[in-house]
Amino acid sequence: MNDQVLAGAIAGASYIVAALLFIMSLAGLSRHESARGGVVYGIVGMIIALLATLWLMIADAWGQPGAVLGFILLVVAMAIGAAIGLWRAATVKMTGMPELIALFHSFVGAAAVLVGWNGALSVEGIAPNLLGIHRAEVFIGVFIGAVTFTGSIVAYLKLSAKISSRPLMLPGKNALNIGAIVVFIALTVWYVITPQLWLLVVVTVLALALGWHLVASIGGGDMPVVISMLNSYSGWAAAAAGFLLNNDLLIVTGALVGSSGAYLSYIMCKAMNRSFISVIAGGFGIEAPRKDGDEPAGEHHDTDAAAVAQLLTGASTVVITPGYGMAVAQAQYPVADLARRLRERGIDVKFGIHPVAGRLPGHMNVLLAEAKVPYDIVLEMDEINDDLAETDVVLVIGANDTVNPAAAEDPGSPIAGMPVLRVWEAAHVVVFKRSMASGYAGVANPLFYRDNTQMLFGDAKERVEDILHALAAVPAH
Ligand code: NDP
Repeated sequence: MNDQVLAGAIAGASYIVAALLFIMSLAGLSRHESARGGVVYGIVGMIIALLATLWLMIADAWGQPGAVLGFILLVVAMAIGAAIGLWRAATVKMTGMPELIALFHSFVGAAAVLVGWNGALSVEGIAPNLLGIHRAEVFIGVFIGAVTFTGSIVAYLKLSAKISSRPLMLPGKNALNIGAIVVFIALTVWYVITPQLWLLVVVTVLALALGWHLVASIGGGDMPVVISMLNSYSGWAAAAAGFLLNNDLLIVTGALVGSSGAYLSYIMCKAMNRSFISVIAGGFGIEAPRKDGDEPAGEHHDTDAAAVAQLLTGASTVVITPGYGMAVAQAQYPVADLARRLRERGIDVKFGIHPVAGRLPGHMNVLLAEAKVPYDIVLEMDEINDDLAETDVVLVIGANDTVNPAAAEDPGSPIAGMPVLRVWEAAHVVVFKRSMASGYAGVANPLFYRDNTQMLFGDAKERVEDILHALAAVPAH
C-alpha cells in the first residue's frame, strides 16, 4: 500500500468515527440528562474531522508546488476562525444566543456559495460524462447556500430587533416565491446544457433575493420555525458543498443537520399549530395579521413582592411558566431558589415550559438546567396544561405570547390557533414584567386584565429576589 492510499484509508476511518460521534451527539442532545455528553461527542467528532481533513490534504498535496503555502493559509484561516468563534462563544449573553446562531447559519450559506462558485470555475479533472452532474451540483449548492445566507441575515436582524418582526406583505408574494423556484429550475437546466457564467450570477442574485423575501414574509410568532428551518437549510447547503468537494463526511454531516433541522421544524409547527408547508414557503396562505397592538379594554391589578410571598405560602400547588423575560433578566437562579424554598415548605412546585418560550428551541430548559432545577419538576406544555385549572398560583415569569388567551379564544388574532399554556384557568396568576408592553409577536395580551391576574412590575430577577426576602419573614404553616 503506498503512503497516499494509507493516508486516505486512515482519513476515511477517522471520518466514520467522526460521523458516528455526530450521530451520538444528536442522540445525546435530545434529552436534558444527556445533553452535556452530546455536546462533548460533537466537539470530539469535529476535532477528529478537522485533523483528518488536514492530514488528507497534507498527504494529497505534499511535494506539489504551492502545497506549503496552501497549508499555511488553511492553518491561518482556521486559527482566525477558531479565535473569533471562541471569543463570541465566551462573550455572548444567553439572550444573544438565537441571533448568534442565525449569524452562524449565514456563514454556512456563504461558504456553500463560495464552494459552488469555486466548483464552477475549476472543472479540471472531472470526467466529461460527469460534467452535467457537476454543473447541477454547482447550481443547487449556490442556490441553497444563497437562500440560507440572506434568510439567516434577516432572521438575525429580526431576532436582534434591528428590524421589525412583523411579516413583510408584498403584493403577490406567493407568486413571487413560486416564480423564483420555477426560474431556478429553468436556469439549472440551461446551465447544465450550456454552462455560462452569467447564469450563475443570475441564480446567485435570485437566491439571495428569495432568501431575504422568504424570511422577511414570516411574522414574529412563526420565527421559531424559521430558526430550525434555516438550521435545516444550512445542513443541506453543507451537504451540497460536500458533493462538490467530494467529501463524504461533509455530505453525511450536512444530511444529519438538514434532516434533524427539518424534523425539528415539523415538531415546532405541530407545537404551534402551523402548517409546515406554509411556513417553509415563506408564510404561504397566511393572511396579513390584523393591525393589533390596541390594548384590550379593562383595568389591571398591581401587586407587590410581600403580597406575592403571602399568596405563595398559602398555596399548595404552584406552577412557574418562564418566558423570554426570564432570560433577559437572568432570573433563573433566584427562580430556582424560590422553587426550592417553596418545596421545602411542602408546596408542590412545577415548571410548565412552552415549546417556543424564549427565542430558541429549548431556551428555557437550558436556563433551568443551568440553575440546577431538578428535571422531574420541569414539564412540557402538554404535560401540565390540564393541571392548571387545579393550580393555586401560577407565576408567569417574563412570558407573554406563550400564555396569551387570545391564541385560544380570538380567531382573528395573529397567533390564533397556537396552543398556549392556559395559565388563566388557575386560581391566581402573577405576571412578572416591566410594563404592559406586548410580547415578541406584537399581540396585546388580555391575560393582564383578568380578575384573577395580578401584575408584579419590574425586572424579574429583582422581583423574585424581593419575594425571597419577603418569604424569609413569613413563617412556614
Ligand atoms: P415574549 O417574547 O412573548 O415576551 C417576553 C416578555 O418578557 C415581554 O413581554 C417583556 O415585557 C418581558 N420581559 C423582558 N425583559 C424582562 C425583564 N428583565 N424582567 C421581566 N420581564 C421582562 O416571551 P415568550 O417566551 O412568552 O414567547 C416567545 C416568543 O418568541 C413567541 O412569540 C415565539 O414565537 C417567539 N420566538 C421563539 C423562538 C423559539 O425558538 N423559542 C424563536 C424566535 C421567536 P416587558 O418589556 O414589559 O418587561
